[in-house]
Formats: sequence, structure tokens, C-alpha cells
Amino acid sequence: MRELIESLIASGYIRSERVARAFEKVPRELFVPRDLVKYAYIDRPLPIGYGQTISAPHMVAIMTEALDPPECSLVLEIGTGSGYQAAILAELVDPQSKGCGHVVSVELIPGLAMFARENLRRSGHIDRVSVIVGDGSLGTGIEREAYERIIVTAASPKIPEPLILQLKKGGRLVIPVGSPELQILTIVDKKKDGRLEITRDIPCVFVPLRGIHGYRDYYINS
Ligand code: SAM
Repeated sequence: MRELIESLIASGYIRSERVARAFEKVPRELFVPRDLVKYAYIDRPLPIGYGQTISAPHMVAIMTEALDPPECSLVLEIGTGSGYQAAILAELVDPQSKGCGHVVSVELIPGLAMFARENLRRSGHIDRVSVIVGDGSLGTGIEREAYERIIVTAASPKIPEPLILQLKKGGRLVIPVGSPELQILTIVDKKKDGRLEITRDIPCVFVPLRGIHGYRDYYINS
């Protein structure tokens, strides 16, 4: 694990002390299928079943640094997958597990939500992460301006309107936007006056976001 973190720091993917600390606190081996544990500290995405993947560590580092969630903030993640990204975020918003910050994570596939909950239990993050089953392209419901940070870990054809509505003023949304084959990591800052500032960052490749505001024609491989 140490070697991987050092290489992520040397490559400039991990830029801050606090993100490095979060990576140290979350063993990736607890979030991959048992037969793939030997590959847990290689910088690659790995299959987690249902045709889905746990993202490569460098991508988790890039997105976490871009999101930069403040301590004690409320974060929404769309696409729980293995729960690894959620655990890293939990370490940032509530490092001492005091209950001051929280991560809400939405997963479309019930079997993966169960996998993630079990992984988060084993890693000691289950009290800091609520895993919900549903279509995360709709966010978590009708409440407006609920989240200080929103992260989408699947490829979206556009920025889903419900996520903009559910983002607090002064908040930030990080989302890969583009075609199912290639996306641009997009950072949306909602200013205090409600204005949106959109920054297109680096190219990336994620599995497709499905649901109402995602790619409706993509199906689950079981
Ligand atoms: N963040 C995950 C991790 O740390 O393992 C990796 C996410 S994986 C690249 C993308 C996930 O998004 C998959 O688990 C997929 O089932 C989920 N997904 C796709 N469309 C979704 C939707 N509309 N709502 C919620 N989850 C969705």
C-alpha cells in the first residue's frame, strides 16, 4: 500500500497531506473481490461484478483532490460500487469518526450496495457512509441545496439537473461528462449567487451512468 501511495504522490495525483492520510487509512484490499486481493495495490481499475469496476487509485486520487471536501461537510456520491471512494471521502469529512461529517452514496445495483456495505463495515467506515439503492442521476430526492460536495463516479452524457439543484451554494460537483467511450472530468462550482462556473479538466474513462439522466440504453452485465 505504501509503495502505491508514494507513487501517487510522486506522480502528482495525490497533492495534499490530508488526501495522503485518507489513502493510508483505507486498505483497498478490503474493497476488491477476494480472488483479486493480490492486485489491490496495482494502479488499475478492477472488476467487482455486474460489469462494474472499482476505479484505479490514481483516478480516485484525482477526483478526491478535485472535490476537496471540507471536514464536517455532507457529501453525496453517485455510484457506490465497492465503497472505496466513499470510505476515502469519509476519512476526509470525519477523520476522527465523531459524526461531524457524512457521506451519502447511491448505487443502482442492489447486489453492489450490499457488497459496499459489507466492505465499509470491515474497514470501519459504515457509520460515516449511508449507502442507498436507487437511481443516483436523480440525486437523493427533492431536497434542494443539501450537499456541500457531489461526486459522480460514472460517465454521464450531461450534468444532471437534479444534482445541480441539490448542490449547496458555494458547493462543488465533480463529474465525468461525455460519451460512453470517453469523458472529460468536469468540475462545477456553484457560486454564492447561484451562478455556475464550469471547468473542464482531464480526459477519463468511466463505466456509464444509467438511469433517467444517464445512458438509459446501457444494461447491467451479470
Ligand atoms: N466509486 C466506486 C468505487 O469506489 O468502487 C466505483 C464506481 S463504478 C466506476 C460506477 C458505479 O456507478 C457502478 O457501481 C454502477 O452500478 C453505478 N451506477 C451507474 N449508474 C448509476 C445510477 N444511475 N445511480 C447510481 N449508481 C449508478
